[in-house]
Amino acid sequence: MGRQTMLVIGLDCAAPRLVFDRYRDAMPNLSALMKRGTWGHLRSSEPPITVPAWTCMLSGRDPGELGLYGFRNRVPGDTRLRLADATDVGVKRVWDWLGEHGYRVAPLFVPLTSPPSAVRGQMVSGFMWPGGDAPWCFPRGLEAEITAQFGPYRADVEDFRSDDLDRIYRDIITMTKQHFEIAEHVWWEEQPDFMMMVEIGVDRFHHAFWRHIDPEHPRHEPGNAWEHKGREYYGQLDTHIGRLCGMTDEDTAVLVVSDHGARAMHGGFCINEWLIRKGYLVLREAPAESSPLDQTLIDWTRTTAWAEGGYYARVFLNVAGREPNGIVAPEQLGAVRDKLRDELEDARNDEGGRIPVSVRIPEEYYNEARGFPPDLMVYFDELKLRAIGSVGAGRIILTENDTGPDGCNHDWNGIFLMSGGGTTARGYVEGAEIYDVAPTILGTFGVPRPPDILGRDWNR
Ligand SMILES: [Zn+2]
Repeated sequence: MGRQTMLVIGLDCAAPRLVFDRYRDAMPNLSALMKRGTWGHLRSSEPPITVPAWTCMLSGRDPGELGLYGFRNRVPGDTRLRLADATDVGVKRVWDWLGEHGYRVAPLFVPLTSPPSAVRGQMVSGFMWPGGDAPWCFPRGLEAEITAQFGPYRADVEDFRSDDLDRIYRDIITMTKQHFEIAEHVWWEEQPDFMMMVEIGVDRFHHAFWRHIDPEHPRHEPGNAWEHKGREYYGQLDTHIGRLCGMTDEDTAVLVVSDHGARAMHGGFCINEWLIRKGYLVLREAPAESSPLDQTLIDWTRTTAWAEGGYYARVFLNVAGREPNGIVAPEQLGAVRDKLRDELEDARNDEGGRIPVSVRIPEEYYNEARGFPPDLMVYFDELKLRAIGSVGAGRIILTENDTGPDGCNHDWNGIFLMSGGGTTARGYVEGAEIYDVAPTILGTFGVPRPPDILGRDWNR
């Protein structure tokens, strides 16, 4: 046997139903990997959101331990959220452990790798790269090399929640092509032992086009101009995957994974509107029309709780000593939270019908809840509904997103597939979790797993 190598292809948001069923016949390369390997659903992190999910996958830690509850997180002394970046990852990820064991590594486009950090090999920052002069490669000399061959680096698709679907589709295709070309280049030129790329285009495609490609979406129009773009785009992904895998040999283990799945978004639950009606949130004046919750409009002297929207709601209590103008006594926090949880679990739509709501308390759910966890994490109708943070719509349930057109919400299950390179072939498996990926990668290289990480090695 030759040199053990591994290629990990991350497809952000890739949904099991599309990859394993609906578009499988358009993905002959992926299908061939499935036939020779181990594959199944991959249960995401809680919450199933890109920034924590990839970081959980590659570190073997849960969001509570990482202190990452979404793209943005709170910092002490401020009621607003701040965008996370790589400096917020206080733990090692698989490429760090592999590098320590002498392997050459190349993480490319992985979420939460901006700014880039020193690795035993090369790193290209992922989609939250701020652009401009900000560094995006380690070593920095790689930036000029890539730009010279593949043009300006496309870390993400701009403004993917808009009505300009022609432009969005073109941008996704161009970006995805560039990413795979860079990956081929790095694999060929640098010959890493471990290379991992993440394609964010899949996520962007879903958010922009899900309503048009999914017949089960409530506002799907059969025969629309975009109906077949899913098959086309997944087919292109498969062609890129085939080319990249064509550069590998029998000692290369190939992993294809996603950080979470996708499902039709039926609308949203206006969590702050609900908190206002229940008396938890008080505004100094009501907005004339639906608009984001402007914190300067909150009457903090009378507010008990407010929330941040997104794929799920993060509800914060206005706690004395913790929030700048807190009014909930710290010893009352538990009681207020329990009451709010009970009321949320009995939430109703505008017609008085029950909305299925699941509520988690970070301190109870995670082993640890580091950083600044929300007091309550709330999921609406099994993720059919987003959490809408805006106020002023005059309704609790909206059928559209508040931050631009979007037909897709994240779903709990992503995909897991490993094949070749000495990995164990089991066919279809059930029960794989996002935390299993790091120990499985380490196990493939024979690197001992750190004692305190989560997950199982699927080679064993
Ligand atoms: Zn994602």
